[in-house]
Order: sequence, then structure tokens, then C-alpha cells
Amino acid sequence: MNAQAAGPAVRRLADWSAADLADLADEYGTPLYVTDLDRVRENATRLRAAFDADTDDVDVRYAVKAHTGRAVLETVRESGLGAECASAGEVVRALDAGYDSVQYTAVNPPAEDLDVVLDRWRDGAEVTIVAGARDTVTRLRERGFDGRLAIRVNPGVGAGHHEKVTTGGHAKFGVPYDRAAALVDDARADFDVVGIHAHAGSGISGDDLEAHRELVSRMGDLARSVGPLEFVDIGGGFGVPYREADAPLDLDAVADATKDALGPVDATLAVEPGRYVVADAGVLLTRVNTVKPVDDEGSTGSVPVVAGVDAGMTTLLRPAMYDAYHAIRNLTDQRPERPVTVAGPVCETADLFCEERPMPAPRRDDLLAIGNAGAYGYEMASTYNSRPRPAEVVLDGDKVRLARERETIAGLTALEVDR
Ligand SMILES: *Cc1c(COP(=O)(O)O)cnc(C)c1O
Repeated sequence: MNAQAAGPAVRRLADWSAADLADLADEYGTPLYVTDLDRVRENATRLRAAFDADTDDVDVRYAVKAHTGRAVLETVRESGLGAECASAGEVVRALDAGYDSVQYTAVNPPAEDLDVVLDRWRDGAEVTIVAGARDTVTRLRERGFDGRLAIRVNPGVGAGHHEKVTTGGHAKFGVPYDRAAALVDDARADFDVVGIHAHAGSGISGDDLEAHRELVSRMGDLARSVGPLEFVDIGGGFGVPYREADAPLDLDAVADATKDALGPVDATLAVEPGRYVVADAGVLLTRVNTVKPVDDEGSTGSVPVVAGVDAGMTTLLRPAMYDAYHAIRNLTDQRPERPVTVAGPVCETADLFCEERPMPAPRRDDLLAIGNAGAYGYEMASTYNSRPRPAEVVLDGDKVRLARERETIAGLTALEVDR
């Protein structure tokens, strides 16, 4: 592979230029998401290279829910990755970003979603629908869909760093493994059945590829039992090192383990990473507004301090929702370390980015960067507490541009009818 195009295995928060980030915060305000499209390209290139996507005919599909911004979707498409969508909205965004074929993995799809997706399909978009329930297959048949269909299988094994991101074993996702072959068979009468699909959750790590191997090998067995297919999609969930000391995922090892566990199948292997493509391509910038030693006396030394910042769980939900660790760096100044709790402005105890983590003691107006914010960052932002969602800028080579405007307070009430 072209080592330069693929870049290093991980970009750490320390690798970002503090001066450049500070300039962006000055120009665009905070909180601000910064997304580096060059890093998105590198991650896409490294994924394709690890799986030998060109020579071995492996299909790498980007799970767009990790970051659906237009610039990211276009960049990922140009980098040769397909699009895996989880809702009608994502299908529409992917098609609008220039994809002419998309995969739509329908989890308990609302009628509106099916109608919107099928409208696009009738208009000529190539859509592969992944159904995770016999009932979903029936609803597609009732709507006159006879196109490309794949069956999502519940493999009965899950990978994941937190129970909320482990989907493999939960009955919500997919058709029970033992019933999948029969459903594939039945569906062949009415649809173009192109594949089988499974996704175990997020957090495949290099130390523990056993659950992953188990899932893939079960999918290989199923593929061999149902006969020729276009693809076997084994999902995403490739982990990224959120902690600075964590080693990056050995993508080559994951690719080798995947191919080995799959065994010989009359189908193309497909993978659909989301997080891996964008996580380390993004940082969140936030400014300190309040500094409060826990005794509120201005004491120095080792007394822990709470640093209030202008981003919160409404800006980046992962710490509150998953207890996720994100690296935090003070871009303004280096001072002696103290235990620091970085807290947002939302009236919820969970609204913390870290608790009593040793770091240079922040002062008011310091600029902090929160790392690995590119995946499930902006996507999970909300307007709880009537907080407008942040702005986003994208970096592309030496160009910088505003990708998403900062939401306004007026915008928050735009949908209210009784004003
Ligand atoms: C979320 C999701 C993915 C991507 O998961 P990551 O952990 O971001 O790689 C892939 N496939 C399906 C069906 C998903 O729901």
C-alpha cells in the first residue's frame, strides 16, 4: 500500500496543532467541532489496504451514522467506501452526497422510513435493504419492493466496550441465527436476495478477537448453507484507542482473522466500520468559563478543581451515555497538574467530560480540545436545556471551511406553532 496515503495507525490529540486549533476557536467560536478530511481519507485508505479491498474484492462500507456531514460523506465516497445507512434520513443524505448505491439496514423501520427509501428506489437509486425481521420482509413485500434484499442475522455473540453498544446478542437486532436460512430461502421467491448481514456491536479490539472470530465463522457457516450470495456483511465495530496509552487496532490482524474465520464462501466479504473512519479525524474545542476548587476557596496545590466549559453532554454525549473516556488537552497553557473535573453547563450530574483527571489546572478562558470526537459526536448532539448545537468546520489540505453553522436560540423555537 501507499504508506503516505494511509497515514499513521492513529492520530492522537497531541498530534493536532494547538496554534491552528486556537485560531479556529477565535474565528468560529466555541464549542466547535473540527473535522479533518485528510485524516478521513487516511483512515479509509488504511481500511481498504488492510482488507486488500482492491485485489480480494472486499467491500468496505462506511456506517454513515458515525458522522453524516456532507463533506465527510463526499470524502468517504471519493475514497472508495460504500454507504451503510440506518434510517431514511441517512439514505437521503448519502444519495444527496453523490452515492448512487446505498445499503439501508432497517432496524424496526417506521413506515415513513420504508416509504421514503422505496420512493428513492423507484426513482432509480440502487438500494440494498437489510431486513432484521420476517415482519420487515413482509412489509417490504406489501409495498411492492422486489429489489436487493439482505437478511440481518442475530449471531448470538456480541463485541463491545459497554453494554449499550453491544448489539450482537440482543433480540432487537436481526433474525435468530437458526431461522435465518429459512428466511433467506423464502425471500428468494420475491426478492433479489444478495446477502446476509450481522453486526455485533462496537469495540472490536486487538487483544480480543475471539468474539469477532466467532461471529464471522458463524456467518461463514450460514453462507455456505444458503448457497451463492453476492456478499456476507460482518458489520463494523472496529475499535479506536480513546485512551492515549491504548495501542491502535492492528487492522491487518483484524482483516486476517476475519478472512480466516470466514473460510471459503461463494460471496464477497463486506465490512461496515463507522467509528474507525472518523473518530480520530475530529476534535471538539471548548472554552473554560468557570473554575471552582471543590472547596470553592481558590486553594491551590492538590485540591481538585471543577472546570466549567461551554460544551456539555448536549454537544458530546458519549461520556454521559457510555461512560466513554475522551482525552482532553489544554491548548492554552501548561501549568502544574491538579485533579480536574471538566463539566458542562447542563443541569445533569452526568454532564461531565472527566472526573478528577490529573491535568494542567485550567483557568478561565483557556481553550480545551477533546479528542476522538469525530465519531458519534455531532451526530448525537441535542438541544436539551435549549442549547443550540455547535458549529463544525472542516479542514481539507490547507483549506478551512465552515461545514455546519452554529444553531441559534431563535432556531430552537422555529418549529413551535403557537408563538
Ligand atoms: C453502528 C453500526 C455500524 C458501525 O459501528 P462502528 O462501531 O461505528 O464501526 C455498522 N453496522 C451497523 C448495522 C451499525 O448499526
